[in-house]
Amino acid sequence: MRRVLSADWVLPVEGPPIEAGAVVIEDDRIAAVGTAEGLGEGTRYDDAVIVPGFVNAHSHLEYAVYGGFGDGLGDFAEWITLHIQRKARIDWAGHVDVAKFGAAQCLASGITTVGDCSYSGAAAVACAELGLRATVYLEVFGADPTRALEHFAGIRDRVADAFSERVRPGVSPHAPYSVSIELYEACAELGLPIATHISESPAEVAYLLTGEGAWGDYKDLLVASPGKTGTHLLAQHDLLGPNVVAAHCVVLDEDEIGLLASTATGVAHCPRSNGALGCGVAPLAELRAAGARVGVGTDSPASAPSFDFFEELRTVVLSARSRAARPDVLSAGEALELGTLGSARALGLDREVGSLVAGKRADVTVVSLEGSAYLPFEDPAAAVVFGGSPDRVVATYVDGEARYEKGGMDWQELTAAAHSARLAMLAQPAARPVAARSA
Ligand SMILES: [Zn+2]
Repeated sequence: MRRVLSADWVLPVEGPPIEAGAVVIEDDRIAAVGTAEGLGEGTRYDDAVIVPGFVNAHSHLEYAVYGGFGDGLGDFAEWITLHIQRKARIDWAGHVDVAKFGAAQCLASGITTVGDCSYSGAAAVACAELGLRATVYLEVFGADPTRALEHFAGIRDRVADAFSERVRPGVSPHAPYSVSIELYEACAELGLPIATHISESPAEVAYLLTGEGAWGDYKDLLVASPGKTGTHLLAQHDLLGPNVVAAHCVVLDEDEIGLLASTATGVAHCPRSNGALGCGVAPLAELRAAGARVGVGTDSPASAPSFDFFEELRTVVLSARSRAARPDVLSAGEALELGTLGSARALGLDREVGSLVAGKRADVTVVSLEGSAYLPFEDPAAAVVFGGSPDRVVATYVDGEARYEKGGMDWQELTAAAHSARLAMLAQPAARPVAARSA
């Protein structure tokens, strides 16, 4: 099927902005991008900008209803214990309900692809059902590779039917403090895309380097300190590379930035999550200057407030400018590029998605700026990044199919099911954390 979408502006991200632009979709691919005059108006969106679907380089859809859980807790063990206890109060169906709610929220925010770290595998089912493109990295934890990979295989089998060209499997060895190097190596041997968490906080780095610091008291929850940071540890074992995406990367020195860049490792920059957890501000400008493959991730409402990708892009801009104390360190257009093509590169999907170019998948988002302070248009990228919001997303297309249309989707049942799951998690008073009990 052939269809044309047109709007005041088309921002292809690869290639200059097109005023009065149009995108031609044939079946699941983009056939042409140009002016509406040349290509026809088709479905015309007024006061609107057409952008590539956002690529969320790091999410946990299964934590979509965890908003506010443990907010502000300074004690890591208390925070993680609360999560584990609450997570255990819902069953498989509950995990699927929550993940579907997360997938719906992503689509409603203009996100067309996620790199999702999934504990139960429910995210794969959710993405398959709602039509969200995904790499679902099934999470593994611990020191023992045999046990962890048995667990991985069990989850992979359970959700095998969900995997397709659009929803592909990956593996996520969680982090260097929760996964042994032997397990990282075993994951690499699977030959799947890999996601992990690296250098999220100063407390993590202190523990990895010395086994001490704020996390020193929780050794029983963690693997032994390797005496080096996550980046150095993985680099030493040849475990960085273009098939790896590392979330956070906040606490990095110059050497580590160089290693991430030279190995073409993907970096998922999650500034709202990092801010909410008091982790710091990642060296985005330095990573970009080094040539690292940086994308943008929302993380999940377990830390960041929401899957609102516009809020994330704004925070990308504001945090970069605050850190550098310069307004010209990152433009809105550059942030948009990071959240589309940059994220696609970080996930190794840039041949297929991330920009509006003939031949790529027809993953397209339409944002209305009607009635906003950004009309009449001056800089359409600034209008989207600073003036956009999920409320302003008119339509989200994945593989040329409208997977979200404002006012046209009935997600009431899905939302009610997710709220029931949250209620189940809140139903019992939180038990005292492990660390407090043993104190
Ligand atoms: Zn994460």
